[in-house]
Amino acid sequence: MKLQDVIELQPPKLTPAENMFLPAVLAGLGTTILHLFKSVGGKVRTLQYPEERRENLPVLQGGMDVLRYRGVHRLNKDEQGRVKCVACYMCATACPAHCIHIVGDAAPPAWSDREKYPIKFDIDELRCIYCGMCEEACPVDAIELTQEYDLVGLTREEMVFDKEKLLKMFDQTVQRRPL
Ligand code: SF4
Ligand code: SF4
Repeated sequence: MKLQDVIELQPPKLTPAENMFLPAVLAGLGTTILHLFKSVGGKVRTLQYPEERRENLPVLQGGMDVLRYRGVHRLNKDEQGRVKCVACYMCATACPAHCIHIVGDAAPPAWSDREKYPIKFDIDELRCIYCGMCEEACPVDAIELTQEYDLVGLTREEMVFDKEKLLKMFDQTVQRRPL
């Protein structure tokens, strides 16, 4: 390696105000005050759930899309009604919460378009942080986050959605956003 290949980096020179984080603090305060005025003006407000539901509000309220959120997952089906998943484990690998558990197996001989499919596919909805990484990682658009958010369960086990439950969620939400 030659000396001219070495790039010497210098720390940026900060002003005394920047050293005390003043610009960043003022910018943060500005955002807070902006939200305060919006809130007083009635543009952004807390949703009075369950009396009010997001889907019944106007889509655009004060510039904020009230339907921009992620709910429980679904496993999509193809045109033949089969689970689209090809058990590649990309979603489970990408999941930062480690809440997806898949067991793959050889696809039935009649399924000539794939080698594998999941015989078991569980998502722990209580561990999930609804980041959407699984959806992003899936190469065949098999897993998707719906806008169903009112999940109720009396036990932790009930909140682990298995393959059947995730496919049922597809049937229930196929006509709705997001797809
Ligand atoms: S939304 Fe995020 S945390 Fe939840 S299962 Fe997908 S990747 Fe994991
Ligand atoms: S849902 Fe998608 S990413 Fe996850 S295992 Fe199935 S095909 Fe792979």
